[in-house]
Amino acid sequence: MKMTKPIRMCIACRQRASKDILLRFQLKDNQIVFYTGEGRSMYLCLDCVKNPKKIQSLPKRLAVDEALFAKFLKESMNNG
Ligand SMILES: [Zn+2]
Repeated sequence: MKMTKPIRMCIACRQRASKDILLRFQLKDNQIVFYTGEGRSMYLCLDCVKNPKKIQSLPKRLAVDEALFAKFLKESMNNG
């Protein structure tokens, strides 16, 4: 039987990809955090995570602190 994997969209480049390979996060009190299991979440593809140019406008769009955003991305890369 063919399994269909959930497809989600990267908020930076709008490419669709399987949920498995996207970084899932959410906004909490104007901070960007890993998805906690509740609330609204968003996705970033790994290409964008590794490419600062693609995501440079995101902190503004999401109204999060730029330094925190950069820190979050660094952490997410360290995690694998
Ligand atoms: Zn992307």
